[in-house]
Formats: sequence, C-alpha cells, structure tokens
Amino acid sequence: MLDLAIIGGGPAGLSAGLYATRGGLKNVVMFEKGMPGGQITSSSEIENYPGVAQVMDGISFMTPWSEQCMRFGLKHEMVGVEQVSKNADGTFTIKLEGGKSEMAKAVIVCTGSAPKKAGFKGEEEFFGRGVSTCATCDGFFYKNKEVAVLGGGDTALEEALYLANICSKIYLIHRRDTFRAAPSTVEKVKKNEKIELITNASVDEVYGDASGVLGVKLKLQNGERDLKVPGIFTFVGLNVRNEILKQDDGSFLCEMEAGGQVSVNLKMQTNIAGLFAAGDLRKDAPKQVICAAGDGAVAALSALSYIENLH
Ligand code: FAD
Ligand code: NAP
Repeated sequence: MLDLAIIGGGPAGLSAGLYATRGGLKNVVMFEKGMPGGQITSSSEIENYPGVAQVMDGISFMTPWSEQCMRFGLKHEMVGVEQVSKNADGTFTIKLEGGKSEMAKAVIVCTGSAPKKAGFKGEEEFFGRGVSTCATCDGFFYKNKEVAVLGGGDTALEEALYLANICSKIYLIHRRDTFRAAPSTVEKVKKNEKIELITNASVDEVYGDASGVLGVKLKLQNGERDLKVPGIFTFVGLNVRNEILKQDDGSFLCEMEAGGQVSVNLKMQTNIAGLFAAGDLRKDAPKQVICAAGDGAVAALSALSYIENLH
C-alpha cells in the first residue's frame, strides 16, 4: 500500500513529490508515463520563473526538479495510469497500463492539459519554432514584430490583446465571422488598432526553414492570402487530461467543471476525501509553471494532513 500516489510528473507532480517526501511520507510513487518535466520540456525557452534569471530550455530547467525530489525518496514509475477509483475502505486503486494496479491511501492527480491542435500543414513541424500555444511564454520573442493568432474563443481574443502590447501587429484569424469569446472582449479587440481581424478564414499552411516560421498561408472565402509573419499562436481550445478519473460507468470519480477541469478548493481537495488535483488540470488554472508548482506543494501539504488524520 502506497502512502501517496502522484499521477503526472510535470511541475505540479514534481512539487507535490518534493513536499510529500520532505514532509516525511516514506512510500510515495509518482506515476509519469514519460520522463518527468511535463509540457514545459517542449519549450525552447523559459524566462518567467521567479528567481531563475538565466533563460534556459524547458528540459534543462526541469531536470533539477526531479533530482531534488529523488534525493528525498520520491520514486518514479515510468508507466501510464489508466484509472483511479476509490475502494469501500477509503483507499484508492490505481490501474496501470499493462494490467497491473497499485493501492494508495491518498492520490494527487497532476495530469495537466494539452492544447488542441488546429490541424494545418506545418503545425507539428514548426511547433516551438514559430508555432506556439502560449503567449505569456513566447510573446516576448516577437517584440515589435507582426504575428498571427488563430481562434475565436476567449483565449484567442484575450491573448491577442496581450500580444498587442508587445508586438507591432496581430492578424487574428478566425474560421467564422462571429466570435465565441465574451462580447466585451470582442469589442476590445475590435477597438484595438494593432489587431486586424481576418474572419471566415482558415490556415492552410505554415511554412518556413531551419530558422523557423517565415509565413502563414490562409484560405479566405474569396481567395487566398500569404502573411509574412515569423510566428503564429494557436488557441483552438484545450484538452484537459482528465480521462483517468472516468469510472467504468462513464461518470467521473469526483466533481468536475463544465469544461472538464477538476473542481478543487484552495487546499486542492476534490469532493472525494483523500483525492487531490493540482496544476493545469484544476479549475481556474492560470496555466503557468509557477502556479502548477504552487498547487503541487499545497496539494502535498493537504495530503500529508489527510494521511496523518487517518491514524
Ligand atoms: P503538465 O506539465 O501538463 O504535466 C502533466 C504530466 O502528466 C505530463 O508529463 C504527462 O506526461 C503526465 N501524464 C498525463 N497523463 C498521464 C497518465 N495517464 N499517466 C501518467 N502520466 C500522465 N509556463 C510558464 O510558466 N512559462 C513558460 O515559459 C511556459 N512555456 C510553455 C511553452 C509551451 C510550448 C507549453 C506547451 C507550455 C508552456 N507553459 C509555460 C505552460 C506550463 O508548461 C504548464 O502550465 C505546466 O507545465 C503545467 O504543469 P502541470 O504539472 O499541471 O501539467
Ligand atoms: P474555445 O472556447 O473552445 O474556443 C476555441 C476557438 O478555436 C473557437 O473560436 C473555435 O472556432 C476555434 N477552433 C477550434 N478548432 C479549430 C480549428 N481546428 N481550426 C481553427 N479554429 C478552431 O477555447 P478557449 O478560447 O481556449 O476557451 C476554453 C474555455 O475557457 C471556454 O469555456 C472559455 O470561455 C473559457 N475561458 C474563459 C476566459 C474568461 O472568462 N476570461 C478566458 C479564457 C478562456 P468556433 O468558434 O468556430 O468553434
């Protein structure tokens, strides 16, 4: 029986691992299907983590996080989790890929989220080299340059406004001529002189060379257009990785938000005793490394207190 199972090894999972093991738990396993580090390891540069003045790539940035946890006794099992369920005696069963399962007294779910892909040609090839899904992270690299933004939801329009403070011009591309975003946000975007709306348009292709993106080819209602921009931000929705909380009958183990995020309180507790969620997966997540790390620490402290009170 594990004291604590942590599922996902991004900033939230690793911080949870550090605080749980350093807080005295002996039998803590982090189930991470890949190498630890999470989404940020796909980023070429991180420069907004407080206290880390040196700009570095995501893998270099995250490597010491696992080293630090392992020093305090966190174990990493490189295996995907298929399902978490609660047993009648209050413990949890963690069903693993490959048929095995583990039992734990408490569980912290940190499986994160993954931006949806838009599906245009060049999206995969240039991801991280001009195609981005994070304006807070990468917007600064396009200071005083023109960029494209794809999407018509709250995220796309809010991020277009954010980028307009940094970049010289934003081409906001949307496949319809009405927006899903809040009307007040749409108004702000329409009033912003740096943003040009290109509606009823789709991205046909992003092209470039070894240096990165050089342009974006659009399909319009009546023709085509070639934008000579070094970057495109795609905000076409997010997939929260909540699948492991689905039970055999199709319901979720705990309360969820309408968008699929896990409902938690400020202690990162779900409505199920002993089950915690942290990071991008939880409701209202700001989707930043610093926030996921803070969540992980909070969740671990809550789990420590939960386990202590079991005795
Ligand atoms: P994630 O980082 O998504 O980690 C979740 C982990 O869970 C993954 O490693 C995944 O493999 C694992 N997992 C998922 N499902 C399972 C399963 N079933 N079984 C086992 N393991 C599983 N934020 C910043 O603050 N600054 C930046 O500069 C910045 N740049 C970014 C650049 C890019 C390209 C991207 C994609 C994101 C960037 N972000 C940045 C956002 C930041 O990476 C996320 O907010 C943060 O990683 C969220 O951490 P997390 O631990 O909640 O989830
Ligand atoms: P979203 O609301 O799902 O919007 C995604 C947008 O991308 C839509 O405009 C959609 O077009 C477009 N799109 C989807 N697939 C596409 C594709 N393959 N190619 C081109 N365009 C594509 O996602 P989101 O903006 O990330 O928001 C997610 C949730 O968070 C929403 O509930 C949103 O309200 C909420 N949110 C709220 C705030 C806030 O309250 N301030 C801020 C951010 C997000 P269509 O419109 O044609 O479908």
